[in-house]
Amino acid sequence: MDCIFCRIASKKIPSSIVHETDDLVVIKDISPQAPVHLLVIPKKHYATLLECEDKILLAGMFEAAKAAAKNAGVDESGFRTIVNTNEEGGQTVPHLHMHILGGRQLTGRMG
Ligand code: 5GP
Ligand code: ZN
Repeated sequence: MDCIFCRIASKKIPSSIVHETDDLVVIKDISPQAPVHLLVIPKKHYATLLECEDKILLAGMFEAAKAAAKNAGVDESGFRTIVNTNEEGGQTVPHLHMHILGGRQLTGRMG
């Protein structure tokens, strides 16, 4: 499997993991767009949100985002969760993931 996020989630390549459950990891984005920029990455491969029908996992991704935002200290100030899907959605890595952005005023409500 040469999917970069599969390799990160299975720890075949190192990354800065800030939170982990049986089903997912939360890591720091390699190219942060805000002081806090984390990625919630399921351990199981789904190319996009459209492929994933696992409601437990999807709920777990939001729970992990909440926990990671609290740990990063941006829960009170505020943060944004984003799932980009396919080309016009801006998805560049074809493995389902959720961005957590915070630590600065985010501009634009809907991109
Ligand atoms: P997308 O554009 O698919 O929604 O988001 C992909 C994100 O993954 C980008 O923000 C990019 O900086 C991040 N990314 C890509 N490759 C790596 C990597 O090897 N390690 C980490 N930590 N982040 C990565
Ligand atoms: Zn993958």
